[in-house]
Amino acid sequence: MQGNAKPSGAGKWLWYVERENELFIDADDPHRKGRRDLVLERLARCTLVKKVVRVAVAPSATPGNWHIAVELRVKLNETMRSAWRLRLGSDIFHEAHNMKRIALGVKYPNLLIRQTPIPGWRKSDAICECPEKHGAHPACEPGRRFRSTDTMNFFRDGSA
Ligand SMILES: [Zn+2]
Repeated sequence: MQGNAKPSGAGKWLWYVERENELFIDADDPHRKGRRDLVLERLARCTLVKKVVRVAVAPSATPGNWHIAVELRVKLNETMRSAWRLRLGSDIFHEAHNMKRIALGVKYPNLLIRQTPIPGWRKSDAICECPEKHGAHPACEPGRRFRSTDTMNFFRDGSA
């Protein structure tokens, strides 16, 4: 889940926007039940593995949580990418937001925002220096470009 205990004031945020030949999987595992390995095992078993060029695994800022980046030799549309992310075990809350964005026609439905580069991966698409983890994005250039007014509050209990 997206916790509130993220470190703040830590400098830069790297924005990785998923491309048509990529899957960015948010493997949230606060109780350390092996979600990262589950995703990697599912990936190794699935038919899509034949199309995989490389995989990178990097810890997110929250202990126990991981980001898994998969490069494919094929392009998949955004709905199919969402289906694969769900199948492989990406975080349900993260993917619910991604599917909402797809339904609303948001241009960049899936991205990762990190404080460190993904080792062995391409450069990030943008960098910002916001002091806090991203909620709303009024003052952030990548936030405006990639997220507009979208926030993570959409599915919160009690929100409309
Ligand atoms: Zn920002």
